[in-house]
Amino acid sequence: MTDSGLTAAAERLCLQNFGNGVFIRGIVEFSNVCGCDCLYCGIRKSCRNVSRYTMNRAEILSAVRAGYEAGIRSFVFQSGEASVYAVDDFCRIIEAVHRQCGEAVAVTLSVGERCGREYRRLFDAGADRFLMRFETANPRVYALNHPGRSLESRLEALHTLKEIGYETGTGFLIGIPHEEPDDFELNLETLIAFRPHMVGVGPFVPAPQTPAAAFPPGPFEKVLQAYSRIRLALPKVNLASVTALDSLVPQGRYKALRAGANVYMPNLTPPDFRRRYRLYEKKSAADAFSDWPRVLEEEMKRFDRRPLWNEIGTSPMMDEPGGGIKRPEISPVMTASER
Ligand code: SF4
Repeated sequence: MTDSGLTAAAERLCLQNFGNGVFIRGIVEFSNVCGCDCLYCGIRKSCRNVSRYTMNRAEILSAVRAGYEAGIRSFVFQSGEASVYAVDDFCRIIEAVHRQCGEAVAVTLSVGERCGREYRRLFDAGADRFLMRFETANPRVYALNHPGRSLESRLEALHTLKEIGYETGTGFLIGIPHEEPDDFELNLETLIAFRPHMVGVGPFVPAPQTPAAAFPPGPFEKVLQAYSRIRLALPKVNLASVTALDSLVPQGRYKALRAGANVYMPNLTPPDFRRRYRLYEKKSAADAFSDWPRVLEEEMKRFDRRPLWNEIGTSPMMDEPGGGIKRPEISPVMTASER
């Protein structure tokens, strides 16, 4: 199939399964502290020029409130891989997010590898979903890019998350430094075999002052090809159009919605923290202005899509046998002292 035939087939299938609605997830980048040294990352431990921060509980809840008021019902809490909060404190924050919203919302974590016990406690506190890319399915390339880490432990952690009952998302990085010619196919095979509920596949984008700064970015066309092939292989997966696409081509994130993606993730991180969460060069500030929900509506309309406000957007893949645990709705009330 030609690339345009592939994209058209993926779009048709996406429309059949999801209509022209796009699930919206609000990202809160609550800390840029990281204990890892991934070669390509702008906030890796060895980047000494990064101004480190961790948002406190009130700042996190305030970002959630702003997103909630805009109509977001699914929040992604993202950080580097470091225990900036003790697990008990993190659990209390997750519980407070649910109470503050006062109706069912989804809480997704993207905080990297932790032990199974910690994953379980966070799940019990109300974290529903977890995103963690395996980045590359080639163990040699994985080890080169992630000093001191192994692909095996990454994949094991992903299986643990699924077993606990999380709606689990994963993906890979197209153009990751030292990639080998067959890796694209290997990555796709590994992803599809895992049968994730959610997918986040992005291009490598170089970050200055990292060992990978001179490597070329992953090609946009290849990312679209991956999205289309994933949609055709996993028709009901929630497939995110990732922020990094905007760094490759103007409106890259919207264009990907026409190639099989059905999830869009505006950034809710307050500006002062957001500019310090620079994973790569030219990170998009598309959602950084106050009337972004209106702009989002208008831009999506130009691509024949509409944002699904006020929807949690559970992955239909959760309905598969062993697909995960859907929670009953939590209907909490937040006390004044918790605000
Ligand atoms: S990619 Fe994630 S784990 Fe790796 S250095 Fe960056 S923030 Fe840390």
